[in-house]
Amino acid sequence: MSFETLGLHPKLLQVVTELGYEKPTDVQLQAIPLALAGDDVMAGAQTGTGKTAAFALPILQRLMTLPSLTEQGIEDAKPQQGAKIRALVITPTRELAQQVYDSFIAYSKYTELKVAVAYGGTSMNVQIKALKAGVDILIATPGRLLDHVFVGNISLANVETFVLDEADRMLDMGFIIDINRIMKRMPAERQTLFFSATFSKQVKKLAFSILTDPKMVEV
Ligand code: AMP
Repeated sequence: MSFETLGLHPKLLQVVTELGYEKPTDVQLQAIPLALAGDDVMAGAQTGTGKTAAFALPILQRLMTLPSLTEQGIEDAKPQQGAKIRALVITPTRELAQQVYDSFIAYSKYTELKVAVAYGGTSMNVQIKALKAGVDILIATPGRLLDHVFVGNISLANVETFVLDEADRMLDMGFIIDINRIMKRMPAERQTLFFSATFSKQVKKLAFSILTDPKMVEV
């Protein structure tokens, strides 16, 4: 199986070729078609399996090819102040947020989509500047994301796709309350992609509380 047969856009095929990816990894083979189709996905995948591209490539493709909620004339069900983002990825750590951001920047090379990152320990102002310039895809850690949301820098009312990356670590680090606060601000009708290396009772409980009719991916 090749990236072509997964139905990826030529602009994304060009990038993966340039990056030297010869064929999709297992998690990419299974998750990319589901995510492209708009399904919710619950995936068991460790770091190093190619999981970032498994969610980043379909997100880029859908944002490139589908109209936003605003373009479709769909009113915000939960109106909020701030930059309207179309895809949100949350990660447990700053390092992972930066890595996922770097991947999105690389994969979005031939698209017009704008990507930003927001995590703690760095200036809010630099992030605010990026948000004001317009952002389609935001990668963030939960605390800093909520800081921006609460002061009206970011609106989650138009999120089409939400990714929870390393959900098990997120729970271990005590982010459950923050995750619930974030969930409340997003439209109920959205795509959710849930990645975790392990699936304890608590991780499953969280997964089933935020996913709708998820398709399972295990590698
Ligand atoms: P991740 O699991 O997302 O942290 O990715 C691990 C590493 O695998 C990253 O350095 C990616 O650039 C690389 N990678 C992702 N997909 C592929 C692929 N299909 N072929 C070769 N390398 C890949």
